Amino acid sequence: MNYYIFQDKNILVQAGPHSLPDAAVWKRFSDSKTFNDTFTEDIYSYTASSLQNGNNVELPSGYEFIPLRQYFAENSDDDGTRAGRASALLSWRSAYAFCPACGALLKDDEHLAARNCKKCGRQYFPRIEPCIIVLITRGKELLLARHKMRNQDIYTCIAGFIETGESAEQAVVREVHEEVGLEIQNLRYVGSQGWPFPDQLMLGYRAEYKSGEVHVQESELYEAKWFTRDALPSFPKAGSMGWRLISGMYD
Ligand SMILES: [Zn+2]
Repeated sequence: MNYYIFQDKNILVQAGPHSLPDAAVWKRFSDSKTFNDTFTEDIYSYTASSLQNGNNVELPSGYEFIPLRQYFAENSDDDGTRAGRASALLSWRSAYAFCPACGALLKDDEHLAARNCKKCGRQYFPRIEPCIIVLITRGKELLLARHKMRNQDIYTCIAGFIETGESAEQAVVREVHEEVGLEIQNLRYVGSQGWPFPDQLMLGYRAEYKSGEVHVQESELYEAKWFTRDALPSFPKAGSMGWRLISGMYD
């Protein structure tokens, strides 16, 4: 059993080893709206509200909040996934306090990660939003872009949400065309990753350049350029699908 305490997108860990809190620390610093995960048997909570609001309760001695994103980069896929599940379920649960159909209070299911409406009988499962991310290559060159809506200091792959009714492959072709004006070929699925910021499932692809001139969609991107692996700009930290693609894990 692990205890997870979050403050926004930050996770409470022991300073130094960045290990998770024990039961005593969890009791003192978790708020009352805890989530008992019947699947992993882990327990999740946000910080006690006074700590969350930034007044008088001090952090437990020897502990600190670090970004969940950093925890992802520092830990194995399994540990990262487990912490990601904790954060995603907490955030989904706070968004699903009431039944979207009839407005009654929702309650946690006793056995599943689900919320039930006692009034109309509907059952709700955590929301997962599928996204594609694609590394486009041209010989030894990689196309990387600087995005307006994400960390603007790094270059990464083209990515976007899958539209209703689309296949993942159609979404890749559409996003590439929309964002950088290129046509691609030899599209190949390489792997996936749950990405709890807050609820995405990233489907990773590689594709080869086919035709066209790079022409960025200005509402989404600052720029997109071709790079070689021996002269890469800053790119996403370890733990992300972007990092896996750019660092060559799927070459
Ligand atoms: Zn209902």
